[in-house]
Amino acid sequence: MLSQISPEELRALCLDFPVAACLVDRNRRFLAANREYARLIGFSGARLVGRRALDVCGPEIDARMQRDFEVFDAGGQVPNHELDFAGKVHLVAARAIRPATGDHVVALCVALTDITEQKRLECRLAAANAQLSDANRRLSEAARTDALTGLWNRHALEELLPQEIGRSRRAGVPLSVLMVDVDRFKEYNDRYGHLAGDEALRAVAHAMRGALRHPGDLAARYGGEEFVIVLPGTDSDGAIVVATNVRAAIRTAAIPHAGSAVGIVTASIGVASVANIPRTAEVALIRTRLIDGADQALYAVKATTRDGIWLHPTGIGDGPG
Ligand code: GH3
Ligand code: MG
Ligand code: MG
Repeated sequence: MLSQISPEELRALCLDFPVAACLVDRNRRFLAANREYARLIGFSGARLVGRRALDVCGPEIDARMQRDFEVFDAGGQVPNHELDFAGKVHLVAARAIRPATGDHVVALCVALTDITEQKRLECRLAAANAQLSDANRRLSEAARTDALTGLWNRHALEELLPQEIGRSRRAGVPLSVLMVDVDRFKEYNDRYGHLAGDEALRAVAHAMRGALRHPGDLAARYGGEEFVIVLPGTDSDGAIVVATNVRAAIRTAAIPHAGSAVGIVTASIGVASVANIPRTAEVALIRTRLIDGADQALYAVKATTRDGIWLHPTGIGDGPG
């Protein structure tokens, strides 16, 4: 029970508190300080009481105490703050001491808690969190990337295409999709082997990527030897220009293919565009129109010449097609 402890015992207890605490008067002279405080500031003299903070703690701490008095005099509060002192980090809490009657500040009570260990753990935790979010970012990037070509994979495309459709609808700009399929690729594998086939797909992807000029253009591997390119802000005329460039870039890569009519790997491209997407149009419907449209256009090329480009009318602001 507190009432059974004598004032001397209480004083001795305060002296041994595990928190460094002191009391200074308006002239910043110590009125009281416990052992932890004396130890902290490296004071080994017999009595701290009556000494100036300026002499014992230095000008910086003395100035800080003076500022604290000014803040309290003006009716403000001094927020708790961290202080690097004597190789440790401390949480400093300063409070004004006012007499029971009257609200003028007569003294300042300062308590310093050693939070070095917490800060060390905080730093380690922050570093671990940074590592974790970095690993997560790499993991989600890997989950969205096609391992063979480095392009977006189909999963990523199914996320990105609806986003682009939504954006185009809001901005009232056109959007086009190209579906690119490598010609006679089964035969390529049969002739040159699967590994050479993989290498050829990588080269096709590289050529394709290099033919895209706008930073917003997206290239994804849709599956097998099929790719989808999304062209935000591009109408059907522009999409045909890009398709022409992609087709030319794949030809320029000049990957020998004895089974092809022209002796090199070529690709067929189906194009579908939308413009002035109605605000009420559903994103899923537009997605289907674009992907199915490009697929049907691709089928039309395959059914005729191969190594060509075809535009399929989606019926959404893309003209006669
Ligand atoms: P078409 O001109 O009509 O497109 O004929 P195609 O032979 O390209 O089309 P088909 O769909 O008959 O065959 C596609 C072939 O692509 C099947 C497979 O041998 C090859 N292929 C698909 N994915 C890969 C892959 O990841 N690596 C390799 N090496 N070959 C693949
Ligand atoms: Mg093919
Ligand atoms: Mg195919």
